[in-house]
Amino acid sequence: MPLIVQKFGGSSVGDAKKIHRAAKRAIDAKLAGNSVVVVVSARGKATDELEQMAFEITDNPSKRERDQLLSTGEQISISLMAMAIQAAGHQAVSFTGGQVGLITDNVHSKARIQRIDAQKITSQLDQGKIAIVAGFQGVDENANITTLGRGGSDTTAVALAAVLRADYCDIFTDVPGVFTADPRIVPKARKLDRISYDEMLELASLGAGVMHSRAVEFGKKYNVLIRVRSSGTDEPGTEICQEADTMEEIVVSGVSLKKDVAQITLDHVPDTPGIAADIFARIAQANIIVDDIIQTEHQSGCATLSFTVDSSDLKTAQKVVDQASKNWPECKISYKNELAKVSAVGVGMRSHTGVANSMFTALAQAKININAITTSEIKISCLITRDQGPQALRAVHQAFNLDAKPD
Ligand code: ADP
Ligand code: ASP
Ligand code: MG
Repeated sequence: MPLIVQKFGGSSVGDAKKIHRAAKRAIDAKLAGNSVVVVVSARGKATDELEQMAFEITDNPSKRERDQLLSTGEQISISLMAMAIQAAGHQAVSFTGGQVGLITDNVHSKARIQRIDAQKITSQLDQGKIAIVAGFQGVDENANITTLGRGGSDTTAVALAAVLRADYCDIFTDVPGVFTADPRIVPKARKLDRISYDEMLELASLGAGVMHSRAVEFGKKYNVLIRVRSSGTDEPGTEICQEADTMEEIVVSGVSLKKDVAQITLDHVPDTPGIAADIFARIAQANIIVDDIIQTEHQSGCATLSFTVDSSDLKTAQKVVDQASKNWPECKISYKNELAKVSAVGVGMRSHTGVANSMFTALAQAKININAITTSEIKISCLITRDQGPQALRAVHQAFNLDAKPD
């Protein structure tokens, strides 16, 4: 029997009517002859509200208790979804991450999935039930509740699709698919019919919040066909799949904006072996994900080392860097918050020239200063001031001819 995973995001289960609509979609898929696993997120803005509740108590909640609290949003959704399916006369059973044996590491607030006990779900599916699993959460080896990072329900869904060898994984959301840019910021953005895992992975890690980047990693590794679709219509949406030859014809497939970027610069660090290794070992120890690293040497035997982190990690990173640089009296450390990163992504960049030039020209014409530039085989990113982010995104989108043609 074919097996499919359907994931419903927060806005797709925001009220009772939407939950019934999502339940109907799951039931229809079941009646069409599929085994169905449903993954749900917390309703509407529930996770933001829970986060706010914690901050009303303290501005520095412990990560364990924060996860314990935030995970409750999904627990509400799974039970309501199961009730909606049962009310329509079908069998359903809901599970938290822990109940389904979704084991993660112990890094609270950005835990990584280590394994899932597929047997727990398949035994329910074999009994003809629709299995409903809470997104975004798991437990560590000691049964502490962990969360996978904001937007992490996508990852739960694709990871389940991988272990269950699902035929495909539908991600139902509030947009009809993956667009050439966030349609909320770029109204002229176009919906894509297909996008490769690599492009989606870059876009997702560079700010395209429509998919959690770890979900795309799982999809690529286990070859899960992912379809991003609107929960309100029956449109086919966007397929995230293996790269096809024709994809290279398009130079830039999409552009994205990462809004919360902070940069740390260490000026006059000793230019000797082991310095960068020491700093980044400490940063890794603090579970901070570092983005772009730039080092330049000076003639004086010193170097300047700059790197970016998520704004939410800046405070912790500051402490780590202050500690690391204690024995370098010459070293001056500066921090810039209020930054953003605009990026253009496309597998076609491998075989086309002039991409960097078009991007820099577009930003120059919009009078946007570039703070730093980083590139990979299929992307180019520029660090800019945060308040210029939306304008930069629109300018770059237009420069790569991605704007929809007027009807
Ligand atoms: P859900 O609650 O369903 O998980 P999200 O808010 O996480 O929904 O993701 C959907 C949102 O992602 C859209 O409303 C859109 O504003 C945003 N988004 C950002 N980049 C893109 C993009 N390239 N294509 C489509 N949507 C995007
Ligand atoms: N509810 C979580 C969040 O808001 C997870 C998710 O929606 O994917 O981030
Ligand atoms: Mg999401």
